[in-house]
Amino acid sequence: MSEYKLTTELLKLSQSQKWNEAKLEWELADVEEVEEPETCLCGHFPILEVCMIENARTQQNARVGNSCVKKFNNKSDKIFRSVASVKKKPEKSVNSETLEFARQKGWVTTKDYEFYIDILRRRSLSEKQLAWKKSVNNKILCRIKRN
Ligand SMILES: [Zn+2]
Repeated sequence: MSEYKLTTELLKLSQSQKWNEAKLEWELADVEEVEEPETCLCGHFPILEVCMIENARTQQNARVGNSCVKKFNNKSDKIFRSVASVKKKPEKSVNSETLEFARQKGWVTTKDYEFYIDILRRRSLSEKQLAWKKSVNNKILCRIKRN
């Protein structure tokens, strides 16, 4: 039933009153792993993977749990899953969704971004390249986990 509650709440903040249309108005604005559990717009508690979503038409925004957002937009879930795997293995690469989002948000520099794109398909990296990649990974992790 919480899915219904979420839809109802988001419709109040949307321009269209048809969910199939209204859901397209919402974009992912930010992602954050929080220490202090929050309550989702649908009433679900606790949420630790928090998404800030923004409505392009009405400029309204909402804080919603990742598990709810992924029912209509799976971008945030791709980011959270990728970040979790890099957290376990710092030498791994983040996926393209995460990298694009990090560039869009200014979490990484254009130079970092271009470097990362360049090395994404390479099988082996020099020590210097690996160190750079890990530093970019770390920049992203720090921005998602803010304290
Ligand atoms: Zn929810």
